[in-house]
Amino acid sequence: MTLDFQPANDRYSRQILFKGIGSEGQSRLAASRALIIGCGALGTAQAEALARAGVGTLRLVDRDFVEFSNLQRQTMFTEADAAERLPKTIACANHLGEINSEIAIERHIADVNPSNVERLIRDCDVIIDGTDNFATRYLINDACVKHGVNWIYGAAVGSYGVTMTIRPNETPCLRCIFPEAPAAASAPTCDTAGVIMPIINIVAAVQVAEALKLLSGAAKNLHNSLMQFDVWTNEWRRISVGRPAAKCPTCANRHFEMLDDDNREFAAVLCGRHAVQISPKEPARVDLADLSRRLAPAGEVKGNDYLLRFRTGEFELTIFQDARSIIRGTDDITTARSLYAKFIGN
Ligand SMILES: [Zn+2]
Repeated sequence: MTLDFQPANDRYSRQILFKGIGSEGQSRLAASRALIIGCGALGTAQAEALARAGVGTLRLVDRDFVEFSNLQRQTMFTEADAAERLPKTIACANHLGEINSEIAIERHIADVNPSNVERLIRDCDVIIDGTDNFATRYLINDACVKHGVNWIYGAAVGSYGVTMTIRPNETPCLRCIFPEAPAAASAPTCDTAGVIMPIINIVAAVQVAEALKLLSGAAKNLHNSLMQFDVWTNEWRRISVGRPAAKCPTCANRHFEMLDDDNREFAAVLCGRHAVQISPKEPARVDLADLSRRLAPAGEVKGNDYLLRFRTGEFELTIFQDARSIIRGTDDITTARSLYAKFIGN
């Protein structure tokens, strides 16, 4: 695909007028590929902004589908997306295609894990964090430090948000700043603290600005800090970060424990969902039509081109083509595993 930046195409005219980007920066954006991991509140805000800005290729990865509880803050999605339970990457790509048909959009309905993260990041110019958990962020951190890829951390919960841009070997990595993930019970999550939309927009906006600087060749303007915002208590803080920590296991020792397949979690409780995700131990494909016929005698089955929804008693199983399942109605991994074994296999 070639992008036409002649005067006849004024889509990017205001951005080209902006001295920080200009026509050369715009051409660089068009030649760039950005990976957005997680297409929830942060991820869809990032995706929309980068699509409008003309980043040439957006690669979207998400493991989930759209629900009505998303609509309060995940501004890209509509009631129709939730009613259809479209996978978030599909719904997001559909809307982006209407916003900017000149860019390429790659869609991956997948859980990011040690088996695929290196492949997903490898040919990307920047990785942007739209995830909702520390385990995935440490995984991204390991993969990005190992391969020398820039990534932009971001998180939001309640009215509080935080972001930092990580350039391997230049700046501290996530592990330099946070050697351990906060203990599960001590950290507020969307589950316990909720989240409001304004903080999403602030974190996503700073992440997008950093991405535009990196991709358009303006790295000298990066903020080089840990930025924290609270839109309810009105505290805004910027803590300068220096160089990578001398004793960081990731930066200094190049020990990438999260990439070790043995660390892979096959079951995960999903934040704020009263649901558990179960992944197959080996990569698999599911024939959804066949599974639908098999499950029909045991409960109500509905679906679309990408997933199947099966209701049995108080539980609802959503099954994707990669044999992953999100089991709603429980926070208990043992219960979820047994439902998976009973209805899907393994
Ligand atoms: Zn480090």
